[in-house]
Amino acid sequence: MTKSLNILVLSRSPELYSTRRLVEAGSERGHRVRVVDPLRCYMNISSRPTVHYMGEELSGFDAVIPRIGASITFYGTAVVRQFEMMGVFTLNESVAISRSRDKLRSLQLLSRKGIGLPVTAFGYSPDDTRDLIQLVGGAPLVIKLLEGTQGKGVVLAETDQAAESVIDAFRGLKAYFLTQEFIAEAKGADIRCFVIGDRVVAAMKRQAKDGEFRSNLHRGGTAMAVKITPQERATAVRAARTMGLNVAGVDLMRSHHGPVVLEVNSSPGLEGIESATGKNIAGLIIEFIEKNARPGRTKTRGRG
Ligand code: ADP
Ligand code: MG
Repeated sequence: MTKSLNILVLSRSPELYSTRRLVEAGSERGHRVRVVDPLRCYMNISSRPTVHYMGEELSGFDAVIPRIGASITFYGTAVVRQFEMMGVFTLNESVAISRSRDKLRSLQLLSRKGIGLPVTAFGYSPDDTRDLIQLVGGAPLVIKLLEGTQGKGVVLAETDQAAESVIDAFRGLKAYFLTQEFIAEAKGADIRCFVIGDRVVAAMKRQAKDGEFRSNLHRGGTAMAVKITPQERATAVRAARTMGLNVAGVDLMRSHHGPVVLEVNSSPGLEGIESATGKNIAGLIIEFIEKNARPGRTKTRGRG
């Protein structure tokens, strides 16, 4: 029997599926779980670091579970960092969350560790557009806005000419983008590996709907449980570790050159993966916290 913990979930709403499940799973295992909106947290960043919520000082927590959406990364990571400064264990640390939110930085870090990636290029000048297209093997190719999520800003260009037009348009909007090899052989499917610690605890295959290459569930993709290979498993675990995330959703595609990582998500949703696999992922997250949460256990202590 482990000791009862005080767990704080930083989430915009207690009604969200993932948040609800974390509260349920924590309570089932005998812990107190409280949900607080990170945007309503304010803090004293001088002298003794504190976090406040509606006039109350938030203290006495053994662990924080950050569920920080992409649209609030800046503020949300500041709140998580503040808890780290206070020596509170955070399931995913602020530095790791920021790292994973930056697609370019993530891919560079993964590449440095020799983790499989789709061939990807990045550039600035309009004079280099043709080279950026050719570097990834020419059309068909994928062009991605750096700040897109849920498949928004991910475009398939079927010809070099279409690619040039899309790139011109993105440049006109002053938006940064990547060019990327199109993994046609994956046939619109990718694999979400749910990593906790050094294990893939569940995996699902997401299949894009007909006539669509993006498999995001938000874009009408469908999910089913899938058996992954030892190489896929190892790739997902290494990708999460490279980002410094204890809990991560690692998205892979099956390419001719082995598993390639598309992205690493630091607040992976629980609904799709729990319903596709029937596993109690929220319970496994709480179990991980029971085993790992200690005061001051956070690696960076807000220094990153
Ligand atoms: P987002 O952050 O918007 O989800 P992703 O990079 O994950 O952006 O791309 C969204 C989806 O588009 C992926 O889940 C995948 O189905 C498809 N996709 C992305 N990159 C490629 C690629 N290089 N080749 C084939 N399909 C891709
Ligand atoms: Mg994605």
